[in-house]
Amino acid sequence: MTTCDVLRCDQPGLRRLLIPSGAGENDEKIICEMHHNAMLQGARWVAYVENPEVLMGSDAPPVLTEVFVRHSGSSNLSSQPVFINLYLSNTDGTERSIEIEATNQLQVLRDLLSK
Ligand SMILES: [Zn+2]
Repeated sequence: MTTCDVLRCDQPGLRRLLIPSGAGENDEKIICEMHHNAMLQGARWVAYVENPEVLMGSDAPPVLTEVFVRHSGSSNLSSQPVFINLYLSNTDGTERSIEIEATNQLQVLRDLLSK
């Protein structure tokens, strides 16, 4: 018996789910009835190309919902620091935010996102 491809689920996999992969080949996962129904109703899921499991619930990473940038103050790293607030929405509907100070890693991030 094939089990569901959702991480930590041991229910029988009865439904096929086509995972569009953008530029590469599409992938196909085997999903149990319960998770398939949840997906059809819009439940959040994440599938990485190199990972056989589908992430749902608290296993799925939070979603970035808002970004706020503040140029003010000073810090031990810079006399003109840039602070970035990231607002995140968790799969369970809760939200949280973190504030970070930008460093030269911001350029690395910019390069990575532009690929
Ligand atoms: Zn399942």
